[in-house]
Amino acid sequence: MRTVIVVGAGVIGASVALHTALNGMRTLVLDGGAEPCTGASAASFSRATAFGKEPEPYFELNHAGLEELHGLRAQGAPGFHPCPSLVWAAGPDRTAAQVETARARGYAAAHVSAHRVPVPGVEPADPPESVAHLPEEGWVDLPRLSAWSLDRARSRGARILLSCPVARLLTDDGSVTGVELADGRRLSADVVVNAAGPGAEKIAADVGGPLSLAPTLGLLADLPLPGGLGAMVLAPGVSIRPHGPESVRVRSEQVDGRLGASAPTGHEHDRLLAELIERAAAVVPALSGARALSTRVGVRAFPSDGRSSVGTLSGVPGYYEVVTHSGATVGPLLGRLAAEEIGTGRRPPMLAPYAPDRFRIPPRAEQPATTAHQ
Ligand SMILES: Cc1cc2nc3c(=O)[nH]c(=O)nc-3n(C[C@H](O)[C@H](O)[C@H](O)COP(=O)(O)OP(=O)(O)OC[C@H]3O[C@@H](n4cnc5c(N)ncnc54)[C@H](O)[C@@H]3O)c2cc1C
Repeated sequence: MRTVIVVGAGVIGASVALHTALNGMRTLVLDGGAEPCTGASAASFSRATAFGKEPEPYFELNHAGLEELHGLRAQGAPGFHPCPSLVWAAGPDRTAAQVETARARGYAAAHVSAHRVPVPGVEPADPPESVAHLPEEGWVDLPRLSAWSLDRARSRGARILLSCPVARLLTDDGSVTGVELADGRRLSADVVVNAAGPGAEKIAADVGGPLSLAPTLGLLADLPLPGGLGAMVLAPGVSIRPHGPESVRVRSEQVDGRLGASAPTGHEHDRLLAELIERAAAVVPALSGARALSTRVGVRAFPSDGRSSVGTLSGVPGYYEVVTHSGATVGPLLGRLAAEEIGTGRRPPMLAPYAPDRFRIPPRAEQPATTAHQ
């Protein structure tokens, strides 16, 4: 029986572990946190969508990820909440073009006059004439879905060890053979899966992996909203989605653009939160003057081209990496596909564009020839 160590118990590690366990592999999950799912998965806007994602294969990966979430829900998995999106953040022309592209690719999308899809409580100060209506999207309670995946993995024999930070990968003659924990313990495995989210770059570097993350911070606030909200709303300057029957989660690219390299504190935090609430109230007036139930700052782990990095590294047997942004959308699907590749050695075609090797700089001799006048 093959032994797999999964580093990280966020949505991705939990999904990989579920499927390696279901596929009969001896599975051990290690996470540095005292609880599973304390990283990006615990501080995410977590809207499941393919809308506007490019290029086409990446759109298709995200579309398949959304379908995976619907499929999981049909099987009884908790955490995915189907919920339509109303989008007008990018302006009418771009939104119309994105709708056309999405529809041509078989995605449920319509570009409609705003009054045709009224959502109680959504009364923008600057009302759009038209919006994209995306009826088959949803949002994901990532801690809940991850806990379910870990429980199922455990019931298939997986072990989940918390408060166990991995200090480094162990190698023998270039192959990864296991991990060393921060307390010095050594654990061996046939395959180590790097699913450490924002912590993945450090682990990849142990084996010369070229993974380079461009981390960005995001401020999220959960606000009370009696009666809740019947849609996810992506307006210029603010995004709002239901968070529960009586609350919403809000974020803003513009506010995030003002965050520095570390989470804001004190007066700076309060100032940014006030701006976030003001932006949300310009779309949902009942949020005016809301007091945040909670706030959190998440770290997005963007591989440098903004897409996923999934697979083995050439020349490093025993190492497998699953790192992505948009993990709320594609995480459960990537976990299943990764486990399939680890178990069978065959690469699912959908993963073809996302090999970690693509980030390697080609040696000089292999670089494309330049033309004479350059
Ligand atoms: C503000 C924000 C908004 C987002 N919005 C969306 C969205 O709308 N839609 C969408 O699809 N996606 C969204 N995302 C992205 C999505 O949330 C992430 O892609 C996803 O949660 C990543 O999951 P993960 O399992 O890779 O990482 P994480 O959830 O960070 O899990 C990694 C785990 O690894 C552990 N770990 C790290 N290093 C080590 C180590 N050395 N040893 C042991 N354990 C370790 C950590 O403790 C953590 O539990 C958003 C993210 C953020 C931050």
